[in-house]
Amino acid sequence: MKLRFAPSPTGLLHVGNARAALANWLHARRHGGAFILRLDDTDLERSKPEYAQAIEEDLRWMGLDWDERVAQSDRLGRYAAAAEALKASGRLYPCFETEEELAYKRERRRREGRPPLYDREALRMTPDQIERALANGKQPYWRFKLATRTVTWLDLVLGERSVKLSAISDPVLVRADGSPLYTFTSVVDDIDMGITHVIRGEDHVTNTGIQLDIYEALGGNPKTLTFGHLPLLTDDAGGPLSKRLGSISLRHLRKDGIEPAALAGYLAALGTSADPVPGMPAALAPAWDISRVSHATARFDTRQMLVLNRRVLHEAPFATVQDRLPEGADEAWWLAVRGNLDLMREARPWFDIIRGTIVPPVLEGEGEFLTAALAALPPEPWDATTWAGWTGAVKATTGRKGKALFLPLRLALTGEEHGPDLATLLPLIGREKAALRLRLSAGA
Ligand code: GLU
Repeated sequence: MKLRFAPSPTGLLHVGNARAALANWLHARRHGGAFILRLDDTDLERSKPEYAQAIEEDLRWMGLDWDERVAQSDRLGRYAAAAEALKASGRLYPCFETEEELAYKRERRRREGRPPLYDREALRMTPDQIERALANGKQPYWRFKLATRTVTWLDLVLGERSVKLSAISDPVLVRADGSPLYTFTSVVDDIDMGITHVIRGEDHVTNTGIQLDIYEALGGNPKTLTFGHLPLLTDDAGGPLSKRLGSISLRHLRKDGIEPAALAGYLAALGTSADPVPGMPAALAPAWDISRVSHATARFDTRQMLVLNRRVLHEAPFATVQDRLPEGADEAWWLAVRGNLDLMREARPWFDIIRGTIVPPVLEGEGEFLTAALAALPPEPWDATTWAGWTGAVKATTGRKGKALFLPLRLALTGEEHGPDLATLLPLIGREKAALRLRLSAGA
């Protein structure tokens, strides 16, 4: 078993790509197969090494690795040879029509109520006509002559699927400048690399029909190839995700503080009926089953991903996050605050509250109460029982209870209305800071 993830390095990875990458990786690892990263970079104008590098970084961040890395730009000779073989067998034919001519023909067919298919006029050119066009300095581009059959396959996700090739225009596989197109290079690679499973987005279904035909024309046995097409993702509002691609690249999610285990766990369960559980890919692989992915489009719900994110942080051991914490952060501090975080960046204010300095608000009308609380502060050493003892004493002297007792103390000590358990926080804040903050809040 051998799978591949084949991104085009023409932009940053977005969650749709990440889902395909993860599904291929999980499938490979679950079944003991190999996984290769293949950069579809034959579009030399749009492909950028910076994007290739960013893609690799983002994949690693999400916990994915690969057994082999291939760049299509290193294999141009191989594609040229495969194109020659198709020319020799009459499946790849030269075309000379300009964009304008093609647009005109499409428009004419549309007016006649016919589908705007390419009419294969170039295929009817005589050798003489071709000779003359070449002599006139015209550079041909090359189309693949599709068979007239209907291609059928059993899709791992969508079930039985078919594509009627006669309803599709012969695809251009080689541009006039000689550069090969993805539709073609991908098939050459899948054959050469012995790819057994292709998992990708549902937007590639028509490509699969075309590519299976090319696969056969190149001498490949399509029976050795299994496809799985993942239904497209929609955004929170049910619209196509692609409209907001920029805002949901992995880079952005990472910058926004999404943890890789939250993203991976969320994507692995997306479109299935399983409850998402956070986890890095290696931990998710044993339970992976592509047949659980439903045929329906899946909604990418950022709120649900945030729920997972919170779970990841709440359970994260100190050692796994240490290098991302504010300098000087210690384990006791982390254990006290992690349960209160939705996003890692919310940790910083709690560092200042506990280990640094804050100026709490002056609480109008609470001066007397806070002064009484200050007077009741016990001497150190403090531990997890100090809070209960202290507030018990404050309650007895002031007669306050419930919110009226606790809220002003929380506001004075942390400057926040909500936060981690004060029994844990109080000994971490320590007597000196606690006393100062009570005094400041009392307006003294
Ligand atoms: N480069 C293509 C894409 O990113 C690859 C599709 C495929 O997996 O074959 O859509």
